[in-house]
Amino acid sequence: MPKDPVCGKDIDESGARASTGQTAHGAAEVDPNMGTRSFHNGQWYYFCSMDCRTKFLASPNTYTG
Ligand SMILES: [Zn+2]
Repeated sequence: MPKDPVCGKDIDESGARASTGQTAHGAAEVDPNMGTRSFHNGQWYYFCSMDCRTKFLASPNTYTG
């Protein structure tokens, strides 16, 4: 089970994936209540909320080590 790299929470991957369909332009559609994910450096990162995702995207190196 993937972990939220920001807060360390376990993420329900299927739930996050189901809620991140892609638009015709490839942008991720997210449901903030279901968790979300982001593609970074060749892999998916999962987040419990838009909050954690925003923190991660602001400074990914802080969380990927
Ligand atoms: Zn989180």
